Amino acid sequence: MAARPMPYLDDLNPAQREAVEMLDGPVLMLAGAGTGKTKALTTRIVHLLNTHKARPNEILAVTFTNKAAREMKNRVGRMLGQPAEGMPWLGTFHSICVKLLRRHAELAGLKSNFTILDTDDQLRLIKQLVQAAGIDDKRWPARLLLNVIDGWKNRALTPGKVPAADAGAYNNKGVELYAQYQTRLKELNAVDFGDLLLHVVTIFQAHPDVLEQYQRWFRYIMVDEYQDTNVAQYLWLRLLAGVHKNICCVGDDDQSIYGWRGAEVGNILRFEKDFPGAHVVRLEQNYRSTPHILAAASNVIRGNADRLGKELWTNAEEGEKVRLIGHWDGEEEARWIGEEIDAVQGGTRGMRPFSLDDIAILVRASHQMRAFEDRFLTIGLPYKVIGGPRFYERLEIRDAMAYFRLVTSPEDDLAFERIVNTPKRGLGDKAQQTIQIAARSSGVSLVEGARIALDQGLIKGKGAGALRKLVEDLARWRAMTRGPVVEANDDEVIDDGGEPQLAFGQPEVSHIELAQIILDESGYTTMWQNTKTPEAPGRLENLKELVNQLDNFENLQGFLEHVSLVMDNEQESDGAKVSIMTLHAAKGLEFPAVFLPGWEDGLFPSQRSMDESGLKGLEEERRLAYVGITRAEELCTISFAANRRVFGQWQNSMPSRFVDELPENHVDVLTPSGLYGGGAGGVSSQGIETRAAEANVYNSPGWKRLQARQGQRGLSQPKESRNTVIDLNAVSSFTLGERVFHQKFGYGAVIGIEGDKLEIEFEKAGTKKVVAKFLSASDD
Ligand code: ATP
Ligand code: MG
Repeated sequence: MAARPMPYLDDLNPAQREAVEMLDGPVLMLAGAGTGKTKALTTRIVHLLNTHKARPNEILAVTFTNKAAREMKNRVGRMLGQPAEGMPWLGTFHSICVKLLRRHAELAGLKSNFTILDTDDQLRLIKQLVQAAGIDDKRWPARLLLNVIDGWKNRALTPGKVPAADAGAYNNKGVELYAQYQTRLKELNAVDFGDLLLHVVTIFQAHPDVLEQYQRWFRYIMVDEYQDTNVAQYLWLRLLAGVHKNICCVGDDDQSIYGWRGAEVGNILRFEKDFPGAHVVRLEQNYRSTPHILAAASNVIRGNADRLGKELWTNAEEGEKVRLIGHWDGEEEARWIGEEIDAVQGGTRGMRPFSLDDIAILVRASHQMRAFEDRFLTIGLPYKVIGGPRFYERLEIRDAMAYFRLVTSPEDDLAFERIVNTPKRGLGDKAQQTIQIAARSSGVSLVEGARIALDQGLIKGKGAGALRKLVEDLARWRAMTRGPVVEANDDEVIDDGGEPQLAFGQPEVSHIELAQIILDESGYTTMWQNTKTPEAPGRLENLKELVNQLDNFENLQGFLEHVSLVMDNEQESDGAKVSIMTLHAAKGLEFPAVFLPGWEDGLFPSQRSMDESGLKGLEEERRLAYVGITRAEELCTISFAANRRVFGQWQNSMPSRFVDELPENHVDVLTPSGLYGGGAGGVSSQGIETRAAEANVYNSPGWKRLQARQGQRGLSQPKESRNTVIDLNAVSSFTLGERVFHQKFGYGAVIGIEGDKLEIEFEKAGTKKVVAKFLSASDD
């Protein structure tokens, strides 16, 4: 069949074109922000399809968020000039691994309808194991174990593979508890997020025939944001690409921002070693941002020592300088940004008018969002929050979903525990223990255990009737659904020799009606109707919203899966809206106008990164600053506040050290009243006094006003010594999980080690970073 014309190639520069046309063999595209990496990757998919090198389902394309995957699919469709045919294997690592694992669940000791647990469930389960092992979880916080286990999973370590050097973790019991945790998950027919990759990698390693099938199937593999892959993801890719070696990875070491979650930027550097003869393509022309924005970003990232180093250039017109402004507090910052959004919408200052869709606010920490949400609600400015499953974290939503989970997978004991006595059914701790024992001794789920306990008359009184009703209701609701749901219309049929599995039985009611029935008949809706607290009506609204949401899914299981995977839940949008999201969630995106609030030491860079002895954390924060600035196409506004309320506590703060790193010539300093100040934006790093003296920011009338007001309110000036870091260059002799004592903070457990700096979860004082020499091993 003749290839179709290729107009899409004309939109590329020579280097991009080279990367697109080099379809066979390993290719690494290593380039800075906005140089068209994602564009080249997308065009490559189009080229593969257009030249009939691969069918849509033979292309494995990994993106970082579901949103990015959707966008890529749409772009492919547009470039092909026809709707993209199904590209079932275009998605995130997690969404692709869910599919693979459902196909081969039995090889991991699971059933194909396994549940995906979230952190909350994980923690509850771990707490149970910790308690059962007789460990005092005050001394040994369960969350520590959770972090340790997640870390092992990111490194693709099953319990048997955890190296001896790590065996000291969690009071020497880490590995043992990890093994128990994995066993328990299997009993529950459940996996956590880390398992999705771990199980698939383990299956591939243990079953070469299965691996081979996919190695043959995925003829072309593509990975965006490669700098943020962790070891497990890297192994997974290396296994899959092992035969064809047609793998194209694109990334930017300067945008590696998930080190804290186990990402290894070293994967980029290893690429050429693992795939000898790899073709490396570098792109240098930036098509996204104006020269001022680019210069600001480049100057900031230059502060990092640990980088490959690349220069970017652009042909774009000069445009506006980056704008910098200080505010009295976070509320004022939000108020100003609200007004400023109105102004730029109207096209002030000689700029073109922007639509609300063109505007994004990128925050370092999600708690910053509230001020903007409140402000925008007050002034009626439409906005959407992207990138956090906030809605799904609410209590009532989690309860409702526990009911849904239990209906789709009766083995989901965690869901059962969550709702067995919600609403109150007279089933207290004692009754619940009886159910647990009945279930354990027969090796069945809690629902079954409940049935056994009832049949044996072990549960008495009012609770017995209520429990029987619950157990019967669950079975009845389940009968109304599609039964053990298996993906019915798989559009990505792989020739795995098996018969396609079809769902049996037809639903008697739609899943939307079913959801409403469950909430009503269980008494859950009534419970909130009878609750006379101020927030109860809001909870009922949320439940309504939850049921409405179901319309977007074919069945309950699809919905639950979506919720587990969703990383970027946008609210359904009609009409333009300002986007609010974290810097992490903004990776890969671009907006004509970007606001970057909260550039204050302690917030951005985070206190945690500043407290570390090494520069690793700080460099990651700086990369985050680089990511933030490079999201902007035409207008970039950076701001900071002198006071900020963090979790109810007022704190005064100093402008971020990254503010110092902005190049004077490319920055306009605005006064808090919104008028232009003049001249320099660069700030020396010698502490607040020098900073104030040298920077027009602090000489501006607005800032002086702020200081005066600060004085009036009797708040102290920011203290320079607050963030002093002592670098002893020593290596501590403490081990992860070890119990320690600190003169000031008391007893705690080591949950992180970085050189001579230790992260300690103190029993009374919470989590803190401290220098090793101030700690002693606890012998109590
Ligand atoms: P990031 O590192 O932030 O993910 P990226 O390298 O993936 O950036 P893209 O998002 O692919 O960059 O491209 C940035 C912008 O430049 C997009 O709007 C894209 O359409 C545009 N662009 C890319 N290449 C070209 C080109 N050759 N000609 C014109 N515009 C281009
Ligand atoms: Mg990109």
